[in-house]
Amino acid sequence: MILGVRIYHTVEPGQNLWRICQAYHVDMKEVMAVNKITDATKIEKGQKIFIPRANQFVQVRPTTRWTHIVVHHSATFAGNAEIFDKQHHQRGFWNGLGYHFVIDNGTNGRRDGQVEVGHRWTRQMDGAHCNAMNMNKVGIGICLVGNFDEDQPSQAQFQALTSLVSQLKRQFGVPEENILRHNMVTGKATDCPGLRFPWQTFKQQVVVATNQPSSAETVATVATNQKPAA
Ligand SMILES: [Zn+2]
Repeated sequence: MILGVRIYHTVEPGQNLWRICQAYHVDMKEVMAVNKITDATKIEKGQKIFIPRANQFVQVRPTTRWTHIVVHHSATFAGNAEIFDKQHHQRGFWNGLGYHFVIDNGTNGRRDGQVEVGHRWTRQMDGAHCNAMNMNKVGIGICLVGNFDEDQPSQAQFQALTSLVSQLKRQFGVPEENILRHNMVTGKATDCPGLRFPWQTFKQQVVVATNQPSSAETVATVATNQKPAA
């Protein structure tokens, strides 16, 4: 019988449970269960976390860089992360899809409210969604598929967005005032994410959701289920 190595990861500054679990390719739910962690946001520097099935230590990059969240619409009726990825490549973005997350509207083979995690997020790269105010470096870019000058986001999209943003807000300590519509960032003449986007309702829902611990697993769940963009 071969004795397995037991890996305990010591939390370093700027790390969070989600990034740690991503780095080790383990399910956050399982890690929380075996370590009896009930609130993923309450892990501390120096805390030792048992990583099931890991057999070596992994470098986990710190995540203090994300201080803002910027919400966009695609200004198109249809789309998905793969399609935008191709378009962004064509527009000359070397790394393709400029957003970190895309929230689908049930077109082009995706579920309504499906959250697609872009490879820029998985690799913790700069976005290419908003040049102003250094937002590509400090802002997490989220795009909802749809044209919200014409329509409103679907209920499923709205819920997915609220859940995603409240999770990211908790994870990175993003202040409420740093959750921005694209058109709130100065230097950009744009309606994005659309004149009919229910911004006030969204902000209120984020505050409510952020105070509910149950939203903690959402992002990790979609991250492990994601189909990588082509
Ligand atoms: Zn935009």
